[in-house]
Amino acid sequence: MDKPVRVRYAPSPTGFPHVGNIRTALFNWLFARHTGGKFIVRIEDTDTARTVPGSLEAIIGSLRWLGLDWDEGPEVGGPYGPYMQSQRLPIYQKLAEQLIAAGFAYRCFCTSERLDNMRAAQTAAKLPLGYDRHCRDLSTDERNKLEASGAPSIIRFKTPLTGRTVFQDMLRGEVAFENSGIDDYVLLKTDGFPVYHLANVIDDHLMEISHVLRAEEWLSSTPKHVMLYAALKFEAPQFAHMPLILGPDRSKLSKRHGAATLTEYRDQGYLQETMLNFLALLGWSLDDKNEIFNRQQLIDIFSLERVSRTAGIFNKDKLDWLNGMYIRTLPVEDLTDRLLPFMEKDLPAEIKRPLDINYVRQLVPLIRERIITLKDAAAYADFFFLDQLEYDSAKLIGKKMTEETTLKALKGAENKLSSLASFNTASLEDTLRHLADDLGIKTGELFNPLRVATTARDAAPPLFETMAVLGKERCLKRIIAALTKLAGN
Ligand code: GLU
Repeated sequence: MDKPVRVRYAPSPTGFPHVGNIRTALFNWLFARHTGGKFIVRIEDTDTARTVPGSLEAIIGSLRWLGLDWDEGPEVGGPYGPYMQSQRLPIYQKLAEQLIAAGFAYRCFCTSERLDNMRAAQTAAKLPLGYDRHCRDLSTDERNKLEASGAPSIIRFKTPLTGRTVFQDMLRGEVAFENSGIDDYVLLKTDGFPVYHLANVIDDHLMEISHVLRAEEWLSSTPKHVMLYAALKFEAPQFAHMPLILGPDRSKLSKRHGAATLTEYRDQGYLQETMLNFLALLGWSLDDKNEIFNRQQLIDIFSLERVSRTAGIFNKDKLDWLNGMYIRTLPVEDLTDRLLPFMEKDLPAEIKRPLDINYVRQLVPLIRERIITLKDAAAYADFFFLDQLEYDSAKLIGKKMTEETTLKALKGAENKLSSLASFNTASLEDTLRHLADDLGIKTGELFNPLRVATTARDAAPPLFETMAVLGKERCLKRIIAALTKLAGN
């Protein structure tokens, strides 16, 4: 095909975008960027009853967050606009009329009451549900009368009753549907709004879309679209339906599998680098070895040939692993900038804001090994900021230690550290190791109570580094507080 590549992401603002939606956007974007084509965003907002407030903003926000920039669409405009279907109603109405005139569609005057009765009768008789084509064969006379009476009507497609509709799917090869299984589907509703099929086909044609890359769930809509392309005398684009995304148990992906909306992942502290990499692997792979790809690499290597024919499996553990990995490869400065808003928000309220960025920058290397998401940081790092640490004084006393020996050890540490001129990792290590020797106790017997005194936890980042970041003043204050706690026993 010599047609220039123009692909589109055509979300409906009927819910907050989840991984499946944005995976479709990503594959379209990668295909466009890889081939030097155009990526278009078109908002399919004609199902007004199902519109969810805030979802359009969430869709746009998710694309922006991931850096999936579009060449034409909302906010950026373009020569084929408007890119919101609700602003294109006259176009669909005109072409729907044209389909009637050409004998491919007809006006249906059935009342909702009649349709309800029809459905009830079909259900009772265990017949397949579907429109019984009552208005398809109205006589000209009956039709004229109904039209003259001003009775509300919709427009339906006159689906061929026999034969098959066949098309090529770039991933599946030839796909065929029996026409007898396809309803006389609605094109235009009473209020003049088009149904998805009509608007989608018209816009893909008018916007000169070369390839329709969309999720497999739309495969059964494609024969309807193929019929419409033919009826409208439009050349159909190429189709490729992306594999489903399932949970590890191969059931429909849901929250239970850790699936969330993109906004939720962002708010939970997943990096855009992680999400881009993770989403790319949901139904696409380069080979069975490499899994870590940055944005540019994905653009360079993405191809439809490597899109899988079988479902992509969503693995939350892999997402977490990837995020931890990306977090650890970010330069400290960058990671600090990304962590700050989370820490500002999540650290206990009693901690003074704004946080000191220089202090945060120092502690980042100490927590980065342990955090999986940016949101984890506050819980790991709160002790760096708190004025008073809460813990049970019994925690200070190690296994082979007593209250006296612990008091002695902490007192010894207080003495040594208060006269320590340069308070850094090396000097702390040296001083405290010597102190343990002098006291005739094992290093652990000194370091453990010191760790609890300075961090309130048994497991914390490396002790000397942590104490160096906390600084002399904070450490001494905390050791004194520990001594007081012990003495109060
Ligand atoms: N508006 C449809 C959706 O929400 C678009 C499907 C398609 O790409 O044709 O997914």
